[in-house]
Amino acid sequence: MSDLTDSQALPLLPHIALFPCAGMGHLTPFLRLASMLSSSQNCLVTLITASPAVSAAESTHISLFLSQHPKVNHLEFQLIPSNPTTTTMDDPFFLQWQSTNRSLHLLYPSLASSSPPLSAIFSDFVVASSMGTIAAQLNIPNYIFSPTSCKFFSLAAYLPTLLSNTSDISSLTQVNIQGLTPLPMTSIPPPFRNQNHIFTSLILQNSRALSSAKGILMNTFHDFESDTLAAINDGRALTNINLPPILPIGPLQAFELKNDQDKYYLSWLDNQPKQSVVYVSFGSRTTMSNSQIRELSKGLETSGYRFLWVLKTSKVDKDDIQEVKDMVGESFLERTKNKGIVLKAWVSQQEILEHPAIGGFVNHCGWNSVMEAAQEGIPVLAWPQHSDQSVNAEIVEKAGLGIWERKWGWGLEGLVSGEEIGNKIVELMENQKVREFSRNVGEKARKASGIDGKSEKVVMEIMESLMQKR
Ligand code: UDP
Ligand code: UDP
Repeated sequence: MSDLTDSQALPLLPHIALFPCAGMGHLTPFLRLASMLSSSQNCLVTLITASPAVSAAESTHISLFLSQHPKVNHLEFQLIPSNPTTTTMDDPFFLQWQSTNRSLHLLYPSLASSSPPLSAIFSDFVVASSMGTIAAQLNIPNYIFSPTSCKFFSLAAYLPTLLSNTSDISSLTQVNIQGLTPLPMTSIPPPFRNQNHIFTSLILQNSRALSSAKGILMNTFHDFESDTLAAINDGRALTNINLPPILPIGPLQAFELKNDQDKYYLSWLDNQPKQSVVYVSFGSRTTMSNSQIRELSKGLETSGYRFLWVLKTSKVDKDDIQEVKDMVGESFLERTKNKGIVLKAWVSQQEILEHPAIGGFVNHCGWNSVMEAAQEGIPVLAWPQHSDQSVNAEIVEKAGLGIWERKWGWGLEGLVSGEEIGNKIVELMENQKVREFSRNVGEKARKASGIDGKSEKVVMEIMESLMQKR
């Protein structure tokens, strides 16, 4: 690792290494944290990235971020090539998490020789176990960053207990974690029924290592998940696990990333009336069946609302070669050309959500999207597709940030008709109570993440504790 240029002038500042794992949903909050830490002047930051990245979006964002944050030191970490026995059916992001864990011991020499010496590591939940071992060898604290809701985190932390107590969790109707409100079985990700599923085994392996971490950082805020945060931190929930404190540091603030992309969709939004447009996006890695895409197009059209729809047809952006017109049909594009835009590209979601023309957000409830909607107070039509998203949808609904039609189930489970989608979009855009509640959530979110907000205080307290140790 190269020396940090300022290190001699600033000998007492803590030096933090940040290690995100694969997926934009993991990288984005880490970059926001890195930007916040490096601009605070209170610490030195090294960003570790695994190479090669899975998606083009990750490579692009890492290089743009580094070129625009010259104070952040970069350590690129070459992964051992992945296991040739894996099939093309396996999720490439999960495979990358696996190979990151397999390769992580190779990182030790670079971390041990870092100058100035590292004070702490902030590492992704999916490498909690292997990074915990390295942090112990270096005799420095490991803070785990969990890029999901506190509620889903509590399920992940409880999973080893759940699966050792119950041989077949499919027989349950709900999961009861002492001290927390029960989770209906329909919200538990289906892979959790199979201990050998790659997603389940990664969660099990890392959940077992949580107690050795110094703290669990989360992109959430007190008012949004107050019951769960309080139950864990007051020692009423997950008492057998001996968890370190949960440290809510959200919603993490976006930073400006300059690029040469033509953001024509923002100019289009400039010409739309206030709160008139439905923004539709299912994050960075979620696809829908062709027939579901057709039904969604019918729903948008019959709702009568203007729309901005970001379409994805493959999990990894580099493989996304289908054309929009083949997915939604030329006649749909022709009929709706004055009503909306459908695009297949990386968009600046933060700038879209900030735009006054946006009135509602049809979304899968990836946790970053939820926090971004919360910050802007935009009502969400929750349509969870997989992973943590149903648990997150329940939080969205409970916090008053939107509506959720539970009977739609998981993505790829069945077909939701265009008529139902259209009706729900109308409800989303016209429900004044939800709009009012969402605005209220926005105010609380901005208060938490603003200067002197609770979330910033949590980060500053960590820095102070690390500073005292230097
Ligand atoms: N995102 C974006 N443009 C896109 C797709 C996604 O800016 O075209 C951002 C989005 O704002 C969020 C992250 O990528 O910060 C996706 O994370 P999330 O947890 O919402 O969903 P995931 O992609 O992990 O399912
Ligand atoms: N899926 C997706 N993106 C993801 C994870 C899952 O689009 O990041 C879809 C995927 O097409 C898969 C379904 O959701 O068929 C369920 O995936 P998961 O990995 O949760 O379970 P599996 O099908 O592997 O048992």
